[in-house]
Amino acid sequence: MNNKLEYQDLFNKVTTLEDINDDLIFEIINNLSIKEKIILKLQGSIEVGKILIYGWKGRLPFYLFKCPDHGYQINYPSGHYMSLHCPKCLDQKTQPTESSPEPLMNDIKIEA
Ligand SMILES: [Zn+2]
Repeated sequence: MNNKLEYQDLFNKVTTLEDINDDLIFEIINNLSIKEKIILKLQGSIEVGKILIYGWKGRLPFYLFKCPDHGYQINYPSGHYMSLHCPKCLDQKTQPTESSPEPLMNDIKIEA
């Protein structure tokens, strides 16, 4: 349980998504308990704390997970299925391949 508090101390320094860098990820991995490492292996991800990013309305839970290409990454669940995406993979994508279809607006008509 003490580990959670340590992460929260680390996260209190985070104000933008750019602050979540390799150094922070490295520090968090070094602070994982054996139990947390097992959960990470079994589940593929583990919540490491809640972060308030500048401009956000509230804190969001952030998860540590392993990207097959970039190693361990930290991000928050996003998208239609609230899934975890590697920030570095997202940066590399010049063209969005999994863009969600626009909602059908055919039923909405504005009458004058
Ligand atoms: Zn990646």
